[in-house]
Amino acid sequence: MTEPVRVRYAPSPTGLPHVGNIRTAFFNWLFARHNNGTFIVRIEDTDVARTVPGALEGILEGLEWLGIDWDEGPRAGGDFGPYFQSQRLDIYNKMAKELVERGFAYYCHCSSERLEKMRAEQTANKKPPGYDRCCRDLGLGGAPGAVIRYKTPLEAKTTFHDLIRGDVTFENATLDDFVLMKSDGYPTYHLANVIDDHLMKISHVLRAEEWLSSTPRHLMLYNAFGFKPPIFAHLPIILGSDRSKLSKRHGAVSILEYKEQGYLPEAMMNFLALLGWSFDDKTETFSKEELIKHFSIERISQTSAIFNKEKLDWMDGTYIRKLSPHEFAERAMPFLEKGLPPEVKRPLDISYVKKVLPLVHERAKTLGELASKELTWFFFIDKLDYPAELLIDKKLDRKATAAMLDVALVRLDELSAFDADTLESVLRPLSDEIGVKAGQLFGTVRTAITGLTATPPLFQTMEVLGQNTCMKRIKEAITKLKENAG
Ligand code: GLU
Repeated sequence: MTEPVRVRYAPSPTGLPHVGNIRTAFFNWLFARHNNGTFIVRIEDTDVARTVPGALEGILEGLEWLGIDWDEGPRAGGDFGPYFQSQRLDIYNKMAKELVERGFAYYCHCSSERLEKMRAEQTANKKPPGYDRCCRDLGLGGAPGAVIRYKTPLEAKTTFHDLIRGDVTFENATLDDFVLMKSDGYPTYHLANVIDDHLMKISHVLRAEEWLSSTPRHLMLYNAFGFKPPIFAHLPIILGSDRSKLSKRHGAVSILEYKEQGYLPEAMMNFLALLGWSFDDKTETFSKEELIKHFSIERISQTSAIFNKEKLDWMDGTYIRKLSPHEFAERAMPFLEKGLPPEVKRPLDISYVKKVLPLVHERAKTLGELASKELTWFFFIDKLDYPAELLIDKKLDRKATAAMLDVALVRLDELSAFDADTLESVLRPLSDEIGVKAGQLFGTVRTAITGLTATPPLFQTMEVLGQNTCMKRIKEAITKLKENAG
């Protein structure tokens, strides 16, 4: 009988949730959901000095944003909370002592001064760094300030099978007697990780490639405790488009920044899934259900994944275009509330927003970008700010431009209906009448009513802005042209 799939996401709260960390969480979650298994979240908060305030909340917010839910944990209020290693210190202490009693580990009393001196000498003599095993055979007892170290077997190799990388072998001689329990009473990552993966019955460890070199240490501990190790799969590293380590230079690295910038979680999910996994090398878009259905470790690649920001933007745009107008408006509202200039009256009028948004639906790549000068500001602000020159077509002069707007103004004033069709039926023939090209007239009117040269379709934009605003803005444009006439 095959054992049930139980996987975990085990972040350390030492910073904001990096794209790479969340990809690890997501792959574990997909693997659990695909196999009807269990996904747990375990916060590895045993490095007190490196714990960053707010990191835990950030990690949980990132998971929640992407809908990565977990299946068990200690009760916190009505819900399952994640497991916290800091609440399990007694377990680690007890089990580390057992290893000492059974001859697999020992107390080390070396002072930090001695260790620093040792390290400096190793560096000076170009020797590999590592504990010199001074206390290994002294049979010391526990005392305040002492640590517990693992007695790494000196001979032999450690080999294991990685589901992604195949057989991997490490020489034990390259490993020193690493610390299991620190002098502050907290376990190290290695000890707590192995104990918990065993006690929590983890069947598969899917984690980033950077942890590959820790695996031989973990296997030695499994062996010392007499536990059966889980199956390992080390996920390919994520690089930036220039193939260097993913960093700020390549765009945001915290998943929460993408949330803030208005990327859709479903697009981000789809994008993350393809960072190291593929279905058939060509299909790009997958719903969450499809990902669960198709996900398999066999299709995770060994080679590094490239984080391509342009692809993310493209993908977000495709998901945005799939939203119904109603849903688009509902989801865009908070970003407009946040991103429009302060002078715009809040709360925004949703029925007006619902008229504006269809005009920019095709163009938006993120929800955050909607509240930009280029896309929607002119629909909401009172006074446009642009230079008079922008109104003037390159084949016309200031006077002719003003004259053109004068005539347009008269025609628009006469209208009793102000819908796109009526506007087109009035403005198109007008260009002939005054002897300019339609493009010249429309270009100038466009700038007058938006302050921009590239906008959504002109007549629809005018309809949404309404007769009063359009007239007012054309008057302002005429004044601008005349004022600066020199
Ligand atoms: N706490 C480690 C981390 O921050 C967990 C590594 C592992 O999954 O074993 O990524």
